[in-house]
Amino acid sequence: MIELGLTADEQELAADVDEFAVATLVPIAEEFGEQHAICRDLVTAMADRGYFGLNIASEYGGRGNDHRYSTLLCILREHLGYHEPGVDFTFGLQGLGTVAIVKNGDDAQRSAILPDLVDGKKVFAFAVTEPHAGSDVRGMTTTAEPVDGGYRISGTKTYISGAPDADLMVVVARTPGAGSAGYSAFVVDPSEAGVEVRQDIELGAPHSIGTIVFTDHFVPTSSLIGAEGDGLKVALGTLEVYRPSVGALAVGMTRSAYDHALEIALEREVGGRRLADLEVIRLKLARMWADATWCRALVYRAAATRDAGERSVVQAAMSKLAATEAACRAVYESQQIHGARGVTVGYHVEALARHARQATIYEGTSEIQRLIIGRSAVEPPTDEATGPTAHLRQALDSIRGSEVGRALLSNDSVRARLADVCIALDAADLVAAQADRLAETADDRAARFALVAELTLVDATDSAADLITDLARRSPDVVVGGTADSLRRTAVRSPDVILLDLADLLW
Ligand SMILES: Cc1cc2nc3c(=O)[nH]c(=O)nc-3n(C[C@H](O)[C@H](O)[C@H](O)COP(=O)(O)OP(=O)(O)OC[C@H]3O[C@@H](n4cnc5c(N)ncnc54)[C@H](O)[C@@H]3O)c2cc1C
Repeated sequence: MIELGLTADEQELAADVDEFAVATLVPIAEEFGEQHAICRDLVTAMADRGYFGLNIASEYGGRGNDHRYSTLLCILREHLGYHEPGVDFTFGLQGLGTVAIVKNGDDAQRSAILPDLVDGKKVFAFAVTEPHAGSDVRGMTTTAEPVDGGYRISGTKTYISGAPDADLMVVVARTPGAGSAGYSAFVVDPSEAGVEVRQDIELGAPHSIGTIVFTDHFVPTSSLIGAEGDGLKVALGTLEVYRPSVGALAVGMTRSAYDHALEIALEREVGGRRLADLEVIRLKLARMWADATWCRALVYRAAATRDAGERSVVQAAMSKLAATEAACRAVYESQQIHGARGVTVGYHVEALARHARQATIYEGTSEIQRLIIGRSAVEPPTDEATGPTAHLRQALDSIRGSEVGRALLSNDSVRARLADVCIALDAADLVAAQADRLAETADDRAARFALVAELTLVDATDSAADLITDLARRSPDVVVGGTADSLRRTAVRSPDVILLDLADLLW
């Protein structure tokens, strides 16, 4: 994993998670079955192995790698998700419910809460969504009214993962204050008066989830996370950290879908030929492998950016959007390759389909990620374009530079398409750099990465050319005629030809 910039310790961690998942965690999960509840034995096992404390500062009982919080989170989630998404859910939820304390809490809150996270003594949840405010976070109506010594919370949160099992929750509610300053985040103990938790939602994939009704629930001022008015910052900051980790889970699921499909394709014969020898199946398998590769590059870039203390909102959105949608495609194709077994209960890929599907919805739907990416993509870039996609970026820039182009880019639907183009461009540049690094170190995966680099560049070219063609249809004045065609001519080989070459190297 040299291409991802992981340290030797981090690479060892990935191997440890693989080993521990197979030997211990998956058997516990299998015994627990498809219950819609948190498996406390899994929490304990992962705590005993030190997983919850890996990225927590040592003064709170952790191992002190807090400067690599996001990267470690992604490694764990990718590898747990590969083996069993249900195990990942149990792991991931603990961080989702505590990252606000890690990043925004004061010392007293961290000292009181984080040791219980590290030791697996408590289960945590993060409550933002309401019956009438999901994507529209600002539309929440739960209030926290200031009273003597604290606040009284009233309102309803729903679709809250872990709610029926949680011992502690981070809850975001409206407080006095205008605009973005009118929200605050609190630590809430759901066993106290004024909190009713209902287990009233049943999802397709096994998942502890429910609704929380607050009725004049009192919280002391000391339960405020950050200052009054910081709630939106806390909520969006949590998502900034967590979205790449959902992407990491999705990459794990894509890899798993690939491996299970390959196993079937190598074993099953039709008309005397193995499925794995049929061109159509080879294309599907190679596409899954390529998707896992470039999505992984986006995921670990977002995590590294956040760990470096830089703003990573757009990169986080790209990684979550690309990886979760790729996982859905991969699982779909894996089910096709499985045939009837792909939709049969008891086959891993059938359960994978239920897990993968929901990942495009929680922590911001794909549509919301496209809005975030598209909004930033309409701004002119600050750096000069370099690398393999420079000519594509310059073509897009010429659209941004014209008045008619800017008018078209003010449409949400156009921005959403631009978001997909931006992801394809970044993926192409990232994988090209990875392929170069592997070639320099004579890594035996270099040839495969070089093919994925070529493929992602063709995909980025087609994606940019399609957008430009579409814009030209909407308004002929938007670009100089022929731009899309001349761009297309820069991509020489067919994606299918590249994918078949890749398949030759994969098994
Ligand atoms: C498995 C699971 C676990 C979850 N866990 C949690 C949790 O732990 N804590 C928590 O707070 N929430 C949780 N949620 C809730 C989740 O975050 C919301 O479901 C999600 O944000 C979408 O909100 P919604 O369901 O209300 O859909 P809506 O916001 O009503 O969206 C409906 C559709 O409209 C689209 N849409 C909305 N706004 C726009 C727009 N401006 N432009 C274009 N399209 C738009 C959406 O993309 C979607 O396709 C969970 C959900 C699931 C499925």
